[in-house]
Amino acid sequence: MPQTALHDGEEIDSTDCNDGIWGAIHRHKPPVKVQCRGCGGQMWAKESMLENRFFSHVSKPSNCPSQGETAEHRELKSLLARAIRDLGWEARLEATPEDGDQGGWRADVLAVDPVSRRRLAFEVQLAGMTVTTGRERMDKYARDGIDTYWVTAKNAWWLWRIPGFLLQDSDGEPQVARGAAHFGPRHSAPQALALGESMYWQPPEDSTLTKLLADIFDGFVAIHEIEAHGTFGLEGCHSARKHETNITALVNSESVLREASYLQMLAAKDAEQTQLELERKRQLANDKRRDRDRKAWEAAVAKNHHDDNSVSYFEEFCQSQARVIEQVVPILQSMCGEDDAVLIGVVPRELSAPSQSAGVVRDDGKDWCYVNGDHTTADGALLWLKKGQAFGKRVAIVCPNPRFLRPKVDELWRQWGVTLYVETTEQAEELAPLIGYDLGNITVVGSDS
Ligand SMILES: [Zn+2]
Repeated sequence: MPQTALHDGEEIDSTDCNDGIWGAIHRHKPPVKVQCRGCGGQMWAKESMLENRFFSHVSKPSNCPSQGETAEHRELKSLLARAIRDLGWEARLEATPEDGDQGGWRADVLAVDPVSRRRLAFEVQLAGMTVTTGRERMDKYARDGIDTYWVTAKNAWWLWRIPGFLLQDSDGEPQVARGAAHFGPRHSAPQALALGESMYWQPPEDSTLTKLLADIFDGFVAIHEIEAHGTFGLEGCHSARKHETNITALVNSESVLREASYLQMLAAKDAEQTQLELERKRQLANDKRRDRDRKAWEAAVAKNHHDDNSVSYFEEFCQSQARVIEQVVPILQSMCGEDDAVLIGVVPRELSAPSQSAGVVRDDGKDWCYVNGDHTTADGALLWLKKGQAFGKRVAIVCPNPRFLRPKVDELWRQWGVTLYVETTEQAEELAPLIGYDLGNITVVGSDS
């Protein structure tokens, strides 16, 4: 049943006309018939028991767009029109296209901004409707630059699928029960915002129709696709849309920005986690490689002991290293103050500074000792100078083993700025060409120096 009609060629809106105009057509003597804007048929002006005004066809029309509009439909249209007008916008009921429009639509309520003339269509839909039909009708509005909002009083199938909302009466104040969402910490736990965690899509805290319309008119409402994983806590959308990925909701634009920065934060956290994981793996690989080197070295030492009953090459090498250390340490100690120390050994790379336990000359009662080196020193003993409380600095490598040189290890030594010490000129002559050093850059401290 329509709420608008034509009388003497003038449009009458029963929800927005004064008593004088209404009195000229309602219960007038003699009776006055008005014309339907939809089918052109004749109608009477009527009032419901609650004194809501509307029009009723004199005889049941065979083809009228207002057919099937129930009293509930009419009530919702009136309610929307009232709320729209309260906010200062025009509300046109059963609105038809204007000059210049492509048309194909008849809006239940067309809201018009009195200044910019921006138009928004509110379609009351109480009967069943497929999402496809809804989209087709929205497309027609879109061609004429009109956004569409679907309004229902039932838990309709299309809710959360096309832009719209479910209206419920709460103590006389119409509330948006579904269709709108807000992104933020749980209303019950606003302190979560400060912690920057646990953000959810949920029903807005202020969900009155007036608030939603005001936000729509002010351009603060975005039609937003919410990913299903983020819909936890959003009332009524799980049961309605179990099998879909996203839901379509009317949300505050601020919520969209907040979600974007929240997702960015989560992504950054993920990336950081990935980076840590990568570093951990790299460290593990390093440790493994060092283990392998150590085992190879020990195997080589064992093999030499086994192969040769005389003092092996490696034993000689170690003895030589021990003798050079004995000579070099006093030289370094002479550079030390009271709080300074010379540390001997290879300090694990994961330590930021050498510690006293990192490596010491091991006195095992024999006349040679064994100092841990690694692939970064070609098994030479690394000497550190620790000045006071400051971190130690690598100052020397004693007897790097020519058989354990890795490619480009000399680059590392140059970078460290360490002095290379060997016992004999023969050793220096063997080492120098292998690492591209001048002979003069290797210090010989043995008896033949
Ligand atoms: Zn009609």
